[in-house]
Amino acid sequence: PKAERFLVTGGCGFIGAALCRLLREAGAEVVVLDDLSSGDPTRLPSDVRLIRGDICDRVAVDRALEGATGVFHLAAVASVELCARNPEATRRTNLHGTAALLDAAGDLPFVFTSSAAVYGEQAALPIDETATLAPMSSYATDKLGSEQHLQVAAMERGARCIALRPFNIFGPGQAPRSPYTGVLTRFVESASSGLSLSVNGDGGQTRDFVHVSDVARALRGSMEMACRAEPGHFAAINICSGKGISILELARLVNRLANSRAPISFGPARPGDIRHSTGDPTRAEKAIGFRVEMPFEAGIAEMLAGRADRIAARQ
Ligand code: NAD
Repeated sequence: PKAERFLVTGGCGFIGAALCRLLREAGAEVVVLDDLSSGDPTRLPSDVRLIRGDICDRVAVDRALEGATGVFHLAAVASVELCARNPEATRRTNLHGTAALLDAAGDLPFVFTSSAAVYGEQAALPIDETATLAPMSSYATDKLGSEQHLQVAAMERGARCIALRPFNIFGPGQAPRSPYTGVLTRFVESASSGLSLSVNGDGGQTRDFVHVSDVARALRGSMEMACRAEPGHFAAINICSGKGISILELARLVNRLANSRAPISFGPARPGDIRHSTGDPTRAEKAIGFRVEMPFEAGIAEMLAGRADRIAARQ
């Protein structure tokens, strides 16, 4: 059989770099296309080829696709806030970029990181893939539009496409200084330095967390499924734990695991913040055999230990 050679767009990002490591460990060749707008090239394993370029640039895309046997499309402006402030510029990457890449990829199996944001606020929990989609942000509509381009490519020309809908992803490598970074990364930073853990609103909003290493495995499992699929296959799949935790409980948990007495403070609620979000992982288990492997508390403990190591290294 032909050796595996994958294109990973956005491979220098938080999730992309974890995926590149997993693919290299499995012996696949990896080419990354990333414009480094938020990515960090030093995260990549040394034997991954990096093409610095924009997914909207067809010349760069064609170069990155040479010899590829499958495409993982992760490049995006991944911040809901940035997309709200700058919808036209971010749509170029998040919607047009996906459609252009999909066209360029022809009949290669195509795995895309959509987002649980496509669900918006749902009354019935946990949320499964048959829920009526109700995006509440420019970021989410671009993800939904991208999914629909995948679905249409499958219908019109027999492409094999999978869209993953991850819920909240956590783990080492989320940019700690970015104001848009995940809540857990911020809590870990604060608890480790004894600063107050700041909660938006009353902290009663719930979220479903999945570790980045589990997301990388889900991406790889989806590629295996796409490679085996008949032409014209499209599926959207939740990536989640199935368990919700409130943000206030989360702050207390991080303090407990950090042995910290950092205060918990409450700020204004974020406008448009979704109240409850917990996913149903049943389809992921049936379709790609996915199950969360990293226990939640162990994942947080690992982040806390990594943070302590970084502080020690600086001293
Ligand atoms: P990230 O910002 O760390 O990574 C995105 C990468 O894409 C960066 O390396 C960036 O430089 C690159 N990029 C951005 N625009 C580009 C362009 N036009 N051309 C080429 N490269 C470009 O974000 P992440 O958290 O790793 O997210 C990866 C994907 O997963 C995104 O599509 C995001 O929307 C999706 N996602 C993330 C989460 C989460 O909780 N982090 C949840 C659901 C979905």
